[in-house]
Amino acid sequence: MTISEILAQPEHSRFSLELLPPLKGQHIDSIYRAMDALSAFEPAFVDVTYHREEYVYREVGPGLLQKRTVRKRPGTVGICAALMNRYDVETVPHIICGGFSVEETENALIDLDFVGVRNVLALRGDAIRSEGRFKAEADGHAFAIDLVDQIVDLNKGIYLDPDLKNTMATDFCIGVAGYPEKHFEAPNPDSDLRWLKKKVEHGAEYIITQMFFDNKRYFDFVNRCRAEGIDVPIIPGIKPLTTASQLHILPQVFHVDLPEALVQSVEAAKTRDQVKKAGMDWCTQQAEELLEQGVPTLHFYTMGKAMPTQEIARRVFGHVKA
Ligand code: FAD
Repeated sequence: MTISEILAQPEHSRFSLELLPPLKGQHIDSIYRAMDALSAFEPAFVDVTYHREEYVYREVGPGLLQKRTVRKRPGTVGICAALMNRYDVETVPHIICGGFSVEETENALIDLDFVGVRNVLALRGDAIRSEGRFKAEADGHAFAIDLVDQIVDLNKGIYLDPDLKNTMATDFCIGVAGYPEKHFEAPNPDSDLRWLKKKVEHGAEYIITQMFFDNKRYFDFVNRCRAEGIDVPIIPGIKPLTTASQLHILPQVFHVDLPEALVQSVEAAKTRDQVKKAGMDWCTQQAEELLEQGVPTLHFYTMGKAMPTQEIARRVFGHVKA
């Protein structure tokens, strides 16, 4: 089923989540453990992130460094297929522009189609960790909208090779990212919204937001989107803050503001458990208010830790089902 079809059902689950592939060398069991903890809430769908290559430097002799290119969290497609098999849940692999030529993207989409994946989240991706700015591959896409176009073409049976005849058309439902607090590179919120609108006009069927900690940011964003004529579902992405260090890491990495009341409650916490409780209490309040306002689903960024999400889902949805 596509995400659009799921969201169109009046009684669909209001719980969805994002998982990270385990670090290379680790077993898929960590993913299964997370799903075992969360599948009781019958997630509407499960996103699986994609992690591009990084550069690492290894000492190979006195004063001699060797640069190597590694992908620390491979396995996105395999995890999606495994979860669909094991939990009978719709999965949404994240597809990024960075590090992919258009040909590689096409082949990746064919793989996804063959394993029965019907949904993708089309993203540009971030810069390589050690590089300041995102650089597209010479024969790759520079923006998510270009990736949306390629997927839409494939959905029409249009492949890169014009000589292919009687081609199979894929049927992907495409989601894209939106930023209630503006994408950090966008010169202003209006231009960011203009490009978001174009992604939708080009074929995106829903938007998942960057995490936010102040619901007002989300409600304002939705109002601005609606005023601009963006009428697809806008799924709020939320994350419980779990450590005191995240007070500084989250704004740095995700370019989001943390409300002063949340900051103060975390600063007042004396133990790690108290910090976790403060973060979960905050996220629970956010979740309850968002649900009251009728959001399409609550999308939890688990970041590899199922427990806080499980506890919040239990508080918000009750013991078992979302
Ligand atoms: P785009 O939509 O391409 O926008 C990038 C910037 O360019 C914006 O400032 C936009 O305003 C502007 N812009 C857009 N189109 C154009 C255009 N045609 N011309 C000029 N300017 C334009 N990253 C990963 O690497 N892996 C993941 O799995 C992943 N998952 C994510 C999931 C969600 C829900 C979100 C919100 C983000 C995720 N990211 C992930 C991070 C994302 O890749 C980065 O935020 C990235 O910097 C931007 O991606 P985008 O798809 O929003 O880019």
